[in-house]
Amino acid sequence: MRRVCIGSPSLDKQSEGENLTFRIQLPSRLLDSSTGLRAPMDLLTNAIESIQVGVEDYQVGSRPRLISAVRNVYAGILLLYKEALLRHSPEGSGEVLIKAKIATVMGSTGELKFVGHGKKTVDTQQIRERFKDLGIVTDWSALNAIASVRNDVEHYYADITKDSVRSAIASAFLIIRTFIVTELEEDPPKLVGSATWQLMLAENELYAEERRLCNEAFSVVEWTSETLRQGIPKLRCSKCGSDLMCPSDDWADLADATLACRACGTEVEAHHFVPKALDQELEWERYLAASDGADEPVGECPNCGVESYVFAEGQCALCGESAQTDCARCGQTIPASEFGSSPVCGYCDYLGSKDD
Ligand SMILES: [Zn+2]
Ligand SMILES: [Zn+2]
Ligand SMILES: [Zn+2]
Repeated sequence: MRRVCIGSPSLDKQSEGENLTFRIQLPSRLLDSSTGLRAPMDLLTNAIESIQVGVEDYQVGSRPRLISAVRNVYAGILLLYKEALLRHSPEGSGEVLIKAKIATVMGSTGELKFVGHGKKTVDTQQIRERFKDLGIVTDWSALNAIASVRNDVEHYYADITKDSVRSAIASAFLIIRTFIVTELEEDPPKLVGSATWQLMLAENELYAEERRLCNEAFSVVEWTSETLRQGIPKLRCSKCGSDLMCPSDDWADLADATLACRACGTEVEAHHFVPKALDQELEWERYLAASDGADEPVGECPNCGVESYVFAEGQCALCGESAQTDCARCGQTIPASEFGSSPVCGYCDYLGSKDD
């Protein structure tokens, strides 16, 4: 995770009878000047260097460097978080708040003390819990958005460009700026370095402008399905992973509408993106249906044949059709999986086709 080079440590073997001891020689800046031992881990330097390396990666812009950019910037933010926890750790507590394990010890006067135990440091979930306890604030949903870009670019998209990961850089910029000011009480451009800061600022502005144009294009659409309206901004381009999927022209009729990726130009037609947007928005309901046997939230529309019939809304999000939910022949509720044969259930539909 750390890409910061500290020079290659050399090993000194010292023979003392049967015992071999190893001494690692570190560069002098990592050694405490008075003791000559390794200085306490400088989290803040690591955090800033990780962010700087990430921004350099981003500027290079090749696929491997873009993946590395998102990873480094994400790692840098986590290190900033740890720096805040370190600053809240009491003196002599063994950096208690950044350690994954906390031990209880008895002090010299019999009082209980909590101290950091072992080498392992806190993971993201622990940082989150400790922030909550300490009242340290950050935008976790923005951090999660960066994490999902990081996962997605590594695993799903072949054609990533700077445009496709710009949203992650923009989110990172906003998180870093706020956190440095409010929690670390430092000056962001000074701390991060002016060159890195200017670049992140520019990318954030570029992204915000693209986002604004996209939102503006959506704002004139007359939505019939609220679920669809909520789900569309959650779509990502299937080619490059960008979240800037915007209307490619005026959406007079949703059935003929297309979305275009502002990053790579890929276009998707309504019968493809409508079911995907509904899936995104109804993720939780779909999960409940799969795990708990709850009703499926979406079924095949009997009118247009697309998986876009939203039961909670009693209409198809694509063609607007309202269909009968009870079978016209046997009166039973038509299950989601048979909804395409409404106004009759699948079984009555089968019987009917035998009679023909
Ligand atoms: Zn794209
Ligand atoms: Zn339909
Ligand atoms: Zn029936």
